[in-house]
Amino acid sequence: MAASVVPPGRGARRATTDDDKLVFETTDGIEPVASFNDMGINNSLLRGIYEYGFEKPSAIQQRAVMPILKGRDVIAQAQSGTGKTSMIALTVCQVVDINSKEVQALVLSPTRELASQTEKVILAIGGYLNIQAHACIGGKSVGEDIRKLEHGVHVVSGTPGRVCDMIKRRTLRTRAIKLLVLDESDEMLSRGFKDQIYDVYRYLPPELQVCLISATLPNEILEMTGKFMTDPVKILVKRDELTLEGIKQFFVAVEKEEWKFDTLCDLYDTLTITQAVIFCNTKRKVDWLTEKMRSSNFTVSSMHGDMPQKERDAIMKEFRDGTTRVLITTDVWARGLDVQQ
Ligand code: AMP
Repeated sequence: MAASVVPPGRGARRATTDDDKLVFETTDGIEPVASFNDMGINNSLLRGIYEYGFEKPSAIQQRAVMPILKGRDVIAQAQSGTGKTSMIALTVCQVVDINSKEVQALVLSPTRELASQTEKVILAIGGYLNIQAHACIGGKSVGEDIRKLEHGVHVVSGTPGRVCDMIKRRTLRTRAIKLLVLDESDEMLSRGFKDQIYDVYRYLPPELQVCLISATLPNEILEMTGKFMTDPVKILVKRDELTLEGIKQFFVAVEKEEWKFDTLCDLYDTLTITQAVIFCNTKRKVDWLTEKMRSSNFTVSSMHGDMPQKERDAIMKEFRDGTTRVLITTDVWARGLDVQQ
């Protein structure tokens, strides 16, 4: 096999910058805050953060948390793996008033899985605050959404379609919402959620604080920031700050498509791989690779956006529990999801 494993940066081909996508400089005067203790976070939340296992804020958390807590609009150019979900969870938990039962923060995400994950992190680190959060996502029962929302929640984390629907039904009351977070905004726009996002925005109070997170900043995003935001602080998380300690990246250069499967088998022969996610760029390729690996006696699960939500949830659960060890998937799963092991 003519493949070699090389860490990126040494001979790795770099992605070319797309000209109509902007790269920000971090706004002057943003000083990183290197400890959660120095962020003015309330004690119950601080305890939740440390118990969740975080010791020190990541690059984006060091830069973005303080401006958000000070009430500024923030644009953060950051990808998944930077600690952005936890950054959202942390700030949301700090800004809501637990004594009120109204929805005060709304987080919009492009996929149901990411919206659920954000809800989970909020509930986990905000456990001692007794924060109530609810994931408002398509593919789940509307009745359950209504029941939860009527019971009273502080935070809604959802996908734009379902959130918009709940607002129009007047089940999701917007009058107390003070913070809107648009996570993976470029993904939301490329999935065709633009109209729903604008629709949701129209229902929110005028003195709203907006925080936008996006890996890339195409013109459509800038248009949105111009409409929704006031004098935003801009934060860029650079590539070399991207990965947290403990994550290494490698690539294998494979010259021909036909060699990929053998290369994969070689990797399995050579390395001890406890659990792995394999991303493919089409649903067809997911199905093809699933078949091919099964016929070579691998036990694999696969998942893509055409599957019903129940099945997607069940597969996610199997994988998180470790019942399945290989998950083959498309980009339904590509961003923002987190399985610790
Ligand atoms: P995210 O980009 O938020 O999905 O985070 C990527 C991974 O980093 C997840 O496994 C998080 O639990 C973890 N993480 C986020 N913030 C921190 C932190 N401050 N310290 C250690 N791990 C973190």
